Amino acid sequence: MTKIKSSFVAKTFLVCFVSVHVPLIALVAYLSMGFQLSTLSVFLLILVATLVGTSLCLFAIWRLIRPLNLLADAMKRYPEDKGILKMYPASPDEIGTVTDIARSMLLQVETLTKQLKHQATTDFLTGLGNRRALMEQMPIIRAKAARPEEAVSLILFDLDHFKRINDEYGHDAGDNVLMAIGEAVKDHLRPYDYAARMGGEEFCIVLPGADLAAAETVAERLRHAVESRVVEPLPKGRITGSFGVAQARPTERLQELLLRADAALYSAKDQGRNVVVRAQP
Ligand code: GH3
Ligand code: MG
Ligand code: MG
Repeated sequence: MTKIKSSFVAKTFLVCFVSVHVPLIALVAYLSMGFQLSTLSVFLLILVATLVGTSLCLFAIWRLIRPLNLLADAMKRYPEDKGILKMYPASPDEIGTVTDIARSMLLQVETLTKQLKHQATTDFLTGLGNRRALMEQMPIIRAKAARPEEAVSLILFDLDHFKRINDEYGHDAGDNVLMAIGEAVKDHLRPYDYAARMGGEEFCIVLPGADLAAAETVAERLRHAVESRVVEPLPKGRITGSFGVAQARPTERLQELLLRADAALYSAKDQGRNVVVRAQP
């Protein structure tokens, strides 16, 4: 019985076999009950039994094939509708097996896609976003603003004389500094802020809802936090950064905003480093 249940072919054969024999079974039952045989009664009996057998056959085949139809529909709708990931085998036969395999393969695809997306948009050293992620996030952040004229500001900072840190203490110490700065940045983020490591020793934080003065305050706090970070074997105060802050103009594109913040950052370097400079409005 289990063998039949687990085999689609066996179930189909059984259904067909039984359905085809319904007229014969009906005739045998009719005769065994002692009814009179007449041409008309036999004709009617066979006709009704054939119709019943055919209906039974069609209904049973439809029931057997239905899980396959549902699976095909769910696969067609994927990836707009992830319903297939919640589909469990309706029967223990081959269709059930295919449903199970399709579901687990697509679950693997989902997990891998998530991992790849995470890797492609995350800086592995600090766990912050990367430049690509910032490019993707900026339009989303601006679309989320309650009003189009709501302020959005950006802090761009670069660690000072970082090459010398690498040269004097080694590349691993440099990496540790980057990780510590990543943590300092995270400590200063509000839930709706977005931070990214833009590359090398340059970081960027987007502050939705913050005007230039508010962003400058955050940058000043962060500058102090960077300066106060201790990473062995560097002496305290050895890590510093130069900061540029800019408030986005209402229709300003990220590239232009970054250029203005970058100009402010370079001005901070020119002013002797470890300072915050406002961008030209
Ligand atoms: P400035 O104050 O003008 O910014 O000087 P700087 O030395 O910080 O700037 P520069 O651009 O000359 O050097 C940046 C250095 O950052 C050079 C590069 O080797 C190092 N760097 C970039 N990425 C990494 C990284 O992932 N890990 C480490 N340890 N160093 C990195
Ligand atoms: Mg630098
Ligand atoms: Mg740099």
